[in-house]
This record gives sequence, C-alpha cells and structure tokens, in this order.
Amino acid sequence: MAKNTWKTALEAIEKYDNIFIFHHIRPDGDCLGSQFGLRELIKTNYPKKHVFVFGDNVGLFPFLEWEFDKFEEVDKKYFKNSLGVVVDANSSNRIQFVNLILDKNFTHMLRIDHHPVDPDINYDYTWEDATYAAAGEQIAYIAMKSNWEVTTKAAKYLYLAINTDSGRFMFDYVQKRTFDVVSYLHKNNDFHVWDVNFPLSIREEKKVRFNAYVMLNYKNEGKVLYFHATNKIQKKFKLTPIEASDVGILANIGDCKIWVLFIDQPDGTIRARVRSNEIWINHICAKYKPGGGHEVAAGATCYSKKEMFNLIEDLKSEVIKHV
Ligand code: AMP
Repeated sequence: MAKNTWKTALEAIEKYDNIFIFHHIRPDGDCLGSQFGLRELIKTNYPKKHVFVFGDNVGLFPFLEWEFDKFEEVDKKYFKNSLGVVVDANSSNRIQFVNLILDKNFTHMLRIDHHPVDPDINYDYTWEDATYAAAGEQIAYIAMKSNWEVTTKAAKYLYLAINTDSGRFMFDYVQKRTFDVVSYLHKNNDFHVWDVNFPLSIREEKKVRFNAYVMLNYKNEGKVLYFHATNKIQKKFKLTPIEASDVGILANIGDCKIWVLFIDQPDGTIRARVRSNEIWINHICAKYKPGGGHEVAAGATCYSKKEMFNLIEDLKSEVIKHV
C-alpha cells in the first residue's frame, strides 16, 4: 500500500527555501540519479531555492557530473526554513551522512522512496510507493504531473535512475507509467537515451573476466543459485567489493528461483544481494541484520560462512514452499 502521493512531495518541495538531498549507502544509479535529477529540477523550476546534495558517488557513473556539497562549507543560514530530502532510502542505517539528519539540522524531512519500509526516522512528509520501478521514476512523475521544465542534464540523471533500477526496463515493476515519464524526460530538450545507454553498456575487461568466472563457478542448491566473491577472488580479478557486486550475472539461469551474490566486505562482514522473480525474499533477508528491501530484490548481512549457509538454507526452504 502506498503512503501518500506525489502531491505530498510537491507540497514539501514548494514550501521550503533550502533543500538538502541525501542518497543511500552503497550508492547506485537510482539514488544518485534521483538525488541529482531532483536537484536539477528544483534549480530549473524554482530558481530562488537553494539546493544542496550530500554524499559520494564513489567513482560510479563517471560519464555524468557528481559535484557534491560539503556540510562544513554550507553557510548556517541555509539550515533555516530547510527541508532534508531522503531519496530511494528510509531507515537511519541506510542513509549516507545520516548524522546530519539525526543532529536535526533541517526544519522538516521528506522521504521519496519505492521501498516498502517503516523507517526509524520520523519523516514529516512521506511519499512511499513500491509500485514504482525506481525512485527516479517517482521524481520524474512529480515533474510530469507538475509540468516542470526538464533540462537535458536533469533528464540524463533521471533516466540513469530509471534504467538501472528497472534492469533496463525488464523488471516486473515496469509499466506504461514508466514509459510515460521517460517520454516526458525528452520534452523540449536534447536528451537522447543513447547518451546514457552507451556509457552504461561499456564493459570493463576485468569485470567481464570476473563475470565469466562467476558463470562457470556458481553453485545451485535446491533452485537457489549462489556465488561467493571472497576477498581472494576480488584480489584475483583486481576488483573492489563494489565492482564485484553485480548480482545480475546470476539472474534467470535454468530453473533457479532465487539467486544470491555474496561479497566479502572490508569490515569482515559478507554482503548478500538476493534476487528472485516471484518468491518474496525480503522477510528472510530482514533476519540477517541489517537486511531487507523489496519483495524480490533485497539485501542481507552475514557475519560468518556459517550464517551465509544458514541464509541459503532459509532461501531453499522458501523455494520448497512455492514449488
Ligand atoms: P542491493 O542488493 O544492495 O541492490 O539491495 C536491494 C534492495 O534491498 C535495495 O533496494 C535496498 O534498499 C535493500 N537492501 C539492501 N541491503 C539492505 C540492508 N542491509 N538492509 C536493508 N535493506 C537493504
């Protein structure tokens, strides 16, 4: 069930002079594209408002500009009559630089998110709707419904968000509305999807080699397909944990129902990225804290190999319930 509508988000955005936008930890195309797309839209359509973005794109999507603001450099006067906006995220353990929110720097808080989550932060305004393929689709929808001007730059960010979180328009969440908003992103500007599709499609050779290794070495137990990208394997292919985290490599192979990529993290934990087509897995991921996410796309944290295998067993039991 959705919580509120695009009008709640618009009302909040229109009300405040100074807007600060946050993305989630381990950023991806959706949270970054939503954050910078919303900033561009506000700057264009409400030129008197001041908009700031906090975070770090950690080198991702270098074909777009990611110039973040630094909290220490923002004049304190901008925190008066301010709105903090969390896009594509929810709880405090999921937000980059969440301390700036928890320290109550902002007058009010807005959340625009497509995850069905009850967060531990008390947002004054929430627009949560899990039927959207991407938070970027929600933001582009606000633009479309409000008849906002969309610059080429804003269109690129929002298209990046929608393209990446929809699995290139492949996932179940994609619907007519998704294409309507993408069509709207083309209005009165020079945006061309190829400008984003082409740089996104370029594949780094070391990642291709890693993909091939994963394809040849994954395990399949009880229709749960998995691979563990250990520290040793990351080193072998000269990949960072983020670079070795493409769970899509394992998608839809044979008759598998659930697929999982485990990735060793520098802090000693094992990140699990869990996906399925129809079996809901977020409640199982929630047991491996911090964990959770969408019904069919979620994440979990394991603290040992034993926990990793427990998670696989839990997922196998879930498959048995559904076949
Ligand atoms: P990811 O595999 O990181 O792309 O995550 C898939 C979805 O699950 C995302 O939309 C996240 O919001 C959510 N998610 C991933 N990891 C966690 C976690 N540790 N705790 C809560 N939600 C998560």
